[in-house]
Amino acid sequence: MVSLYAASKKIYPRSVEGIFAYWRWIFVVLTQLVFYGLPWFEWGTRQAVLFDLASRRFYIFGLVLYPQDFIYLTGLLVISALALFLFTAVAGRLWCGYACPQTVYSEIFLWIERKVEGDRSARMRLDDAAFSLEKLVKKCYKHIIWIFLSVWTGFTFVGYFTPIRELVMEFFLTQMTAWELFWVFFYAFATYGNAGFMREQICIYMCPYARFQSAMFDNDTLIVTYDAERGEPRGPRSKSADVAALNLGSCVDCTLCVQVCPTGIDIRDGLQYECIGCGACADVCDTVMDKLGYAKGLVRYSTQNAIDNKWTSAQIWERLMRPRIQIYTMILVAVTVGLFVSMGMRTPFKVDVERDRSTLSRITESGTLENVYRLQVMNASEAEQTYRLAVKGLPNLRITTETEIKVVPAQSRWVVLSADIPYGSSPSGSHKIEFHIEALGTNDFVAEKSVFIVPR
Ligand code: SF4
Ligand code: SF4
Repeated sequence: MVSLYAASKKIYPRSVEGIFAYWRWIFVVLTQLVFYGLPWFEWGTRQAVLFDLASRRFYIFGLVLYPQDFIYLTGLLVISALALFLFTAVAGRLWCGYACPQTVYSEIFLWIERKVEGDRSARMRLDDAAFSLEKLVKKCYKHIIWIFLSVWTGFTFVGYFTPIRELVMEFFLTQMTAWELFWVFFYAFATYGNAGFMREQICIYMCPYARFQSAMFDNDTLIVTYDAERGEPRGPRSKSADVAALNLGSCVDCTLCVQVCPTGIDIRDGLQYECIGCGACADVCDTVMDKLGYAKGLVRYSTQNAIDNKWTSAQIWERLMRPRIQIYTMILVAVTVGLFVSMGMRTPFKVDVERDRSTLSRITESGTLENVYRLQVMNASEAEQTYRLAVKGLPNLRITTETEIKVVPAQSRWVVLSADIPYGSSPSGSHKIEFHIEALGTNDFVAEKSVFIVPR
């Protein structure tokens, strides 16, 4: 009987310093400054970034988006996917190693763990030790900080959907709604579980990106690689030993690259799907090489072709702009420019015209033929706006109800609108007409098509 179940072994990543660790922290700080800080920014009298689901409006600085603007969100998602393809083809799992929330929060939680319990060996000793007051205090202390951070993260997350200042007031007045409480604690629980306990297991077993990344890699993709030709045969030696005489490569088999790896793999076994491309092994190996007086880069960012053919950095960079990358870049630039141009040309109001189906064409007391419409004007700007309405498409067609309407900021208004023609001036049937809506004091103008019915 072979069991297919393997219990996961806890990984105790050792702390590491170096250029890639430095960049990882830069990304941690930048992403978290944006995430925790953005909801507190004000734009005029409102929160700068707010996804107000209840009133179905998204506020992004000066932009107010309605459900009808969903196309822009789709565009943003397409741009994100294309950027992911491009960066992955150029430099492998850059997103995973540096900016993915799972990596970023694991890094923060691990940092707290190190501050409270110590580095790798101290943490391993503490976990192996029998129950004691010291162990209890350290574990409680760590979990209290983790829980506080998780709840703050959940609170910030909800602050993107409910104005965060109101949320703070509601919290202190114990007036948060059940949904707000649910989402704060759900997000907090997910953060606490994923970053505190699951960590690399999310990347290895749950993340779909790890599974299809190989489809985006080629032999010119930058990946973290071990230079086996230089490193093997591996083996310990003293600093002054003659490696040529010992017939040893540069790898001293210190296993530090394994100890710092957040997913617990050995980069010397080649590229593995568990590798998130964080560069921690490259950093630590460089410090080992430095201490021994060897050239750095036994573990480094390189490409399969560069390792196989001993390419120089210049040759690697030359291959960077290969046709595949050029195509990805062109598509990405085209979609991005298209999205921004279309957003720039977007009129800050929207109009919907519906024929009032409950009211058929009728002959008025003054002897004209009248059709009734329902018109919805959405003011997507942040100032009250007056709109002038006109109609074209048939001789002597005119609006008989009000032709100027006011709509308050970021709201929509329905108006009932009647249009008429002199009786008998047009043949019977359905005639195409156009409503022209102009925002006074601006150059913004919308034309909406409809029909005017002349009965037999
Ligand atoms: S850190 Fe470098 S020298 Fe040490 S085992 Fe890993 S590859 Fe070999
Ligand atoms: S093998 Fe190296 S680059 Fe890959 S996850 Fe481990 S430490 Fe990071």
